[in-house]
Amino acid sequence: MTHETINLLEKRKRQVHEGGEFAMEAEKQSLAGSVSQRSCSFCGSRVVLYPIADALHVVHGPIGCASYTWDIRGSLSSGPELHRLSFSTDMQEKDVIYGGEGKLYNALIELIDEYKPNAAFIYTTCIIGVIGDDVQAVAKKVQTEKGIPVIAVDSEGFKGSKKEGYKAACDALFKIAKESEVEKSQAEGQDIGGTGDISTLDLQTSDSPKINILGDFNIAGEIWVIKDYYERMGVEVVCSISGDGRVEEIRKAGRAQLNIVQCSGSVSNLAKMLETEYGTPMLRASYFGIEDMSKALYDVADFFDDPEIHKAAQRVIKEEVTKLVPQLAPYRKDLQGKKAAVYTGGAFKVFSLVRSLKTIGMDVVIAGSQTGSVEDYKLLAELCDPGTIILDDTNPLELAKFVKEKDVDLFIGGVKERPIAYKLGVGFCDHNHERKEALAGFIGMYNFAKEVHTSVMSPVWQFAPRRANR
Ligand code: SF4
Repeated sequence: MTHETINLLEKRKRQVHEGGEFAMEAEKQSLAGSVSQRSCSFCGSRVVLYPIADALHVVHGPIGCASYTWDIRGSLSSGPELHRLSFSTDMQEKDVIYGGEGKLYNALIELIDEYKPNAAFIYTTCIIGVIGDDVQAVAKKVQTEKGIPVIAVDSEGFKGSKKEGYKAACDALFKIAKESEVEKSQAEGQDIGGTGDISTLDLQTSDSPKINILGDFNIAGEIWVIKDYYERMGVEVVCSISGDGRVEEIRKAGRAQLNIVQCSGSVSNLAKMLETEYGTPMLRASYFGIEDMSKALYDVADFFDDPEIHKAAQRVIKEEVTKLVPQLAPYRKDLQGKKAAVYTGGAFKVFSLVRSLKTIGMDVVIAGSQTGSVEDYKLLAELCDPGTIILDDTNPLELAKFVKEKDVDLFIGGVKERPIAYKLGVGFCDHNHERKEALAGFIGMYNFAKEVHTSVMSPVWQFAPRRANR
């Protein structure tokens, strides 16, 4: 099929910007028949909570939902690795008819006894929403019996796209953070109710300025890179949600003075709840590319308004950039003028990728996301060169059409976009959560340039039938 025969679906035309006056629509339900790249609500919850390494993750539903999301991200842990196991109640026909509450209860008791987790998340899937199991009641019963937080995550797949799942995950995280404050008050002698064991909760705090890092998932160890920068500035990271996450740390989230929010689509609801509850303000940040990484550090220094932190931020950035720029030069020379397509889950990352690609001399000719807002796309159109195709909630056929029309050299996306790139004989960089290379921070910019260069300059593409006849 050539691109001339691929037409946009009539009802999707306003979700594609091909230049001229900007009049895009976004944040709509996916069009039936469009084969959206978005995933379900359950998947959205699962990916946000997944990196909490000392918690039990139980998928209440058919085995397919669990296998679809098993070990879905390259989220590393510096300690326990319970998150890498995926447990399921494996709902069968009989359970659907008679209900699965008993099966869920037995599974939780057995798993908690076996693995001794610090919390348990129960993910509800489509069929549970349909048959109406009282998952909250089971969670409450097990929490009382076992003395750890047992949280029902309202993530029935049919509730919407992964965006609704993010909201359910934020509600679950907030529940853990909030319960700790109840416990803290109990420890200080105020009887305001609540449950749980306070014996493990460290109530000591230091005098250093404190932040939480929200929305980083420690893919290939990225959160360790970012934490190191902040610590070199004299700023303490109270908790990271959810990369290399621990229940104990999440319980202390209310003690930070500032929440840094990356991947704002997935965790902005949590940041808003923490702001309302504890008055903790939030700052958006991106850790991809030289400009955005530097800005993330300077913004924290500005917030604390401390000359020592400012000086330390300058020192960190100078050290890192001085090392990085000469390393990028040979890649930039080869990649100058090559064309890239970028399609990610959230829109915020696309801004950083456009800047990062400019840093290594490449032009972005296609840019889009699954869940961006009209405002995001307007900013993206301004950031990109005129004529760049901007896409909201696109599908494989549209992507293939534009990749061919624009004759791109590189596609940046996730697991669902990889086959599109390879079938069309185009270099590919995985910037989604399956990636095995750290792409955040200054070192991440180097890894990114190296990976892009390796793929784009590979001699293999000359043998792809479409490109062999160029
Ligand atoms: S749509 Fe429903 S059945 Fe499919 S993976 Fe999501 S929760 Fe499971």
